[in-house]
Amino acid sequence: MLSPEEIAARLAGVRQRISRAALRSQRPPEAVNLLVASKGQPAEAIRAAYEAGARCFGENYVQEALAKRANLADLTNIRWHMIGHLQTNKAKLAANSFELIQSLDCEALARALSRHRKDTPCAVLVEVNLGGEATKSGVPPGQVEHLIDAVRNLVDVRGLMTIPPPAANGEQSRGFFAELRELRDRLSSASGLSLTELSMGMTDDFEVAIEEGATIVRIGRAILGERPS
Ligand SMILES: *Cc1c(COP(=O)(O)O)cnc(C)c1O
Repeated sequence: MLSPEEIAARLAGVRQRISRAALRSQRPPEAVNLLVASKGQPAEAIRAAYEAGARCFGENYVQEALAKRANLADLTNIRWHMIGHLQTNKAKLAANSFELIQSLDCEALARALSRHRKDTPCAVLVEVNLGGEATKSGVPPGQVEHLIDAVRNLVDVRGLMTIPPPAANGEQSRGFFAELRELRDRLSSASGLSLTELSMGMTDDFEVAIEEGATIVRIGRAILGERPS
């Protein structure tokens, strides 16, 4: 794990790059929310980022998230998102544990999440598989409208999330980020839902994603370093 000082310095550097990219997209820096992607990283690394000012963290596996969080229960105002594929049989554990589930990809999952919530519906993003990659989860762009119609009374759909196909550099992903924004604009008009959130951009491409309209960037390695294997 990197030292707390190194994590703080990296976080400050990433924040500066986020601010500059937001200004290039004619938006205030606060319009872009930073989520620290902490899968595979120890609780101490999360604590160091929190102490340096980060408040929102994303995990990929429910059990790993809950185990680490038990060690971080003293951190106030910390917020957790689910950013990895969520199996329907984990919905009960996940439904009341995350501020936002960014990986909704089927109606069965929405039904299971809704069954395990009492008062307000679960906030979700629909994960879109823009590259048509068989190895990646997410819904093909042509099926997002149908999924939103099927789940809008079960969960609170706040927007879209994507992970573009692997690329040599961020610039190569620009077309995918623009496509997600255009899909959001179209579905927002079609559904009447505001769909304000566009979760896109990671260590290698977050500045391009912000230029194309990202409201949430999910950044791991640039802040916490390489994940331990
Ligand atoms: C791991 C992960 C990230 C962060 O990736 P980095 O390249 O480390 O910034 C973002 N989003 C998801 C869904 C991830 O699984």
